[in-house]
Parts: sequence; C-alpha cells; structure tokens
Amino acid sequence: MTDHYCVFGHPIGHSKSPGIHAAFAEQTGEAIDYTAIEAPLDDFAGAWRDFVAAGGRGANVTVPFKEEAFRLCEVLSPRARRAGAVNTLILGKDGQTYGDTTDGVGLVRDLERHGVTLAGARLLVLGAGGAVRGVLEPLLAAAPASLVVANRTAGKAERLAADFADLGEVRGGGFDAVSGPFDVVINGTSASLANELPPLPDDLFAAGATAYDMMYGAEPTVFLQWAGERGARGVDGLGMLVEQAAESFFQWRGRRPDTTPVLEALRRAL
Ligand code: NDP
Repeated sequence: MTDHYCVFGHPIGHSKSPGIHAAFAEQTGEAIDYTAIEAPLDDFAGAWRDFVAAGGRGANVTVPFKEEAFRLCEVLSPRARRAGAVNTLILGKDGQTYGDTTDGVGLVRDLERHGVTLAGARLLVLGAGGAVRGVLEPLLAAAPASLVVANRTAGKAERLAADFADLGEVRGGGFDAVSGPFDVVINGTSASLANELPPLPDDLFAAGATAYDMMYGAEPTVFLQWAGERGARGVDGLGMLVEQAAESFFQWRGRRPDTTPVLEALRRAL
C-alpha cells in the first residue's frame, strides 16, 4: 500500500520537494508518493483537511503557509513551538495533526557537512523573518561564542534576539550596527531573490570564515560573490533544502535517507 504525502505552497510549481522525496523513497524502499499542491490563499486548513480525507498521511508546508500550519496543529514539537512555524505536518494514528519544523536542523546538518564548527564561533545571521526564527534554536544549541541577528528593520531583529536570549549570547539590531569579524555569516534575508545585497561592512569576515546563503541557484548569489571577494568560503542553501526534507522524511517514516547522492543529483540539474 502506498502512503500519500505532499508539499503545500502558493505558488508551488517551482518546488523541488517532490523530486527529493521520490529519490528518498526509491533509496529506502518506502512505499510513498509525494505531490505538490497549490493550496488556496484563504483556506489552507481546508486544503489539509481535504488531503487527509483523501488518505494523506503528512505534508511539507512552504511559503506562505508556515504560520497557518503552526496554528492548525493539535500537537507541536518543542522546536516548532519555539519557531512559531511548521514546515512538517504529521497525521498521528490518533487522527490528531502533529507539527514540526525541520528547517533549522537542516541548516545545521548542512553546515556540519561542510565542516563548519559552530561551537565557540562568532555567528552573524542576516534577516529576521520566518526562516531566521526557525534556525536560531539549533544554532544556539551548537554553543557558539556569540550570535548577532541583523535586519533591515532593526526592531524585528531586537525582538527576535530577546525571544531567544534564554538560549545563549544573542544580540539583535540593524545592519549599520554590525561590526565584525565573524567566523560564520548566514544570509537568511530574501534580498538574494531580488539580486540585492544587504549593506554590510567590508571587514565582516574573520580568516577562514564561511558565508552561507539560504538561497541557491546555478550561479553563486550576489551575497556569496561579495563574500568570496572578501576571502570567505561560500556555501548556498541547496543542502539545507535537502537536509530539511530528510528530517521530514524521518519524522514520517522513521528512516533516515542518505542525502549526499540526492544533493549531488539536484546540484547537477540546477
Ligand atoms: P520572510 O519574508 O519571512 O523574511 C524576509 C527577510 O528578508 C526579512 O528579514 C526582510 O527584512 C529581509 N529582506 C527582504 N528584502 C531585503 C532586502 N532587499 N535587503 C535586506 N533585507 C531584505 O522570508 P523567509 O524568512 O521565509 O525566507 C528568507 C530566505 O530564506 C528566502 O530567500 C528563502 O528562499 C530562504 N529559505 C531557504 C530555505 C532552504 O531550505 N534553503 C528554507 C527557508 C527559507 P525586513 O524585516 O526589514 O522586511
């Protein structure tokens, strides 16, 4: 018997998730199918209910529904509660909807894959939207020396830092207050989507620093180009995408796929 999963978004045509999960299913021998569903902007909860009524067992959730998914869950994982967002819905045997977020663990696993040491490092995270809120807990759990959140709207970064201050040394502010050097700089803004670069000082990077952009593409983003010119090693967010998918797959199926061949195939196809 085949179990049904999907990703909800709006728009959703561009999603790489069906291909990633098909590759995981083939690799692990799990009998699942996985489709992309464009949920209506005004009725995400209805789309999930319909999917469950048709036999759906779980779903990923992407822009713009992660907060709505959070609100409809009957049970939340501690990390989803902290993030205020859900990217993984799980239909429990009891019929309840469980919510989790796997973006943060996806980022940390991808950083580990690239040999980035977070413990004791000076971290800078750019942006204060949903993606950044989802990654702060696992980043702080890795025990960095310090973490600065910088955002175009400074107040949002300050509030975010205050929300996570119980987990470690974290400060928030505007881009103008950023003062390096940093060992790891993570771009979690959507500026790269518009080919824009947040206004950052030239001396941002420590020797041997890593610049990570949650965006990805066939070419390095404008942020990664800028960072490379200043001596930092660049990593894009394709690995984060695959790792968060693997963690969702694990939550649904109890099996952990090998992400490396899937990531390599996706990279070749970009
Ligand atoms: P949000 O819309 O929630 O937040 C966007 C953030 O970007 C805000 O902090 C906003 O600042 C900032 N921003 C937007 N435009 C600019 C600009 N021109 N200059 C500087 N800052 C800007 O988006 P998300 O947090 O959901 O997503 C952010 C990025 O992360 C996206 O590119 C997304 O594709 C990527 N992502 C990648 C994932 C992966 O698996 N690789 C997973 C999740 C997200 P302000 O508050 O001032 O408006």
